[in-house]
Amino acid sequence: MPIVRCHTLLVKTERGFFMINSLNGRKVAVIGCGFVGSTTAYSLMQSKLFTDMVLIDVDTNRAEGEALDISHGIPYYSPMNIYAGTYEDLSDASIVIITAGANQKPGETRLDLVQKNVAIFKTIVPRIMEQGFDGIFLVVSNPVDILTQVVMELSGLPRERVMGSGTVLDSARLKYTLGHMLDVDPRHVHARIIGEHGDSELAVWSAANVSGIAINDFFRLRGIENATEIRASVEESVRNSAYEIIEKKRATYFGIAPSVTRICEAIVRDQKSIMTVSNYRTDVQGVPDVVMSLPAIVGSKGVEFPIPLQLSIDEAELLHSSAQTLKNTLNQIDFSPVSYTHLRAHET
Ligand code: NAD
Repeated sequence: MPIVRCHTLLVKTERGFFMINSLNGRKVAVIGCGFVGSTTAYSLMQSKLFTDMVLIDVDTNRAEGEALDISHGIPYYSPMNIYAGTYEDLSDASIVIITAGANQKPGETRLDLVQKNVAIFKTIVPRIMEQGFDGIFLVVSNPVDILTQVVMELSGLPRERVMGSGTVLDSARLKYTLGHMLDVDPRHVHARIIGEHGDSELAVWSAANVSGIAINDFFRLRGIENATEIRASVEESVRNSAYEIIEKKRATYFGIAPSVTRICEAIVRDQKSIMTVSNYRTDVQGVPDVVMSLPAIVGSKGVEFPIPLQLSIDEAELLHSSAQTLKNTLNQIDFSPVSYTHLRAHET
């Protein structure tokens, strides 16, 4: 591998020398072309946000087949180059989306996937960094909050340039369910799911509103009096959505694909959108150094600004317990087998 290329800078960091390549802001990569990777790639093609999209999968036939199939829609959208590539193709990508890994089988929780997917990430992330990747990682594989933190550790990139899709999908499920129930455009429903993208997540009812009208007042406007029970059942159905869908059709993918595209849009267009991506926090309700799904401003620099939340006492307790669940899982992860020797090869 050449140390210096015309568009490459060699910089020294604490972990040795790294190649930094000039970024192509219109180039995205999707690692893992299963249910989630392929639908995400399809949604990205439709979005017209990128001119180049690289697909990578251990199953190269799958990546090639998806690239070909998705490319055939291009004449009805916008010209772009979609191809099954290799890690070398990632050197100038601006966003690398990781959807590789095991998905939930019926009855499995997201946290059950942790060991399998950490092992896969230990093979993928160093290979990406070897190419001098200097863009933004967007993690989708589960457990997404944990794996986002794993990518931060493995990549050594600034924390703001590593994020997970977090509860962006869960928040969409909440907005959709409330909008449907209240017979109002879900885009006017401002409600969020925060915490772990998983069983310990919670809805922030204390701040939920429809176009500025507090959610309980909007319930009353629509003739719904038993707000407490309704809220609990909506929250439960959102939390269990993935289980229900997996039970019925083996996997969830049509909801996550536009959620990922929406995050990419905020980055590529520097929209400063507030989203519940998985992002690093020094402290969450007394739990230090945790990555979890909390609102933050997302723009071209990645996670640009964490948004503080005013929570009710009950919500704060639930968030603490969610952060502790993630911390306990993270503490069980062994990072030791990861070797940066291949990255240190250029050290003097
Ligand atoms: P899938 O089994 O259909 O696809 C996974 C793909 O990863 C396969 O094509 C496989 O060949 C590939 N892969 C495995 N190891 C690899 C490696 N080392 N390098 C490259 N590719 C590799 O699974 P899926 O349904 O697409 O789910 C993928 C992940 O996304 C799962 O972890 C799932 O839980 C997660 N997911 C997340 C969300 C979310 O909201 N964050 C939503 C749905 C699914």
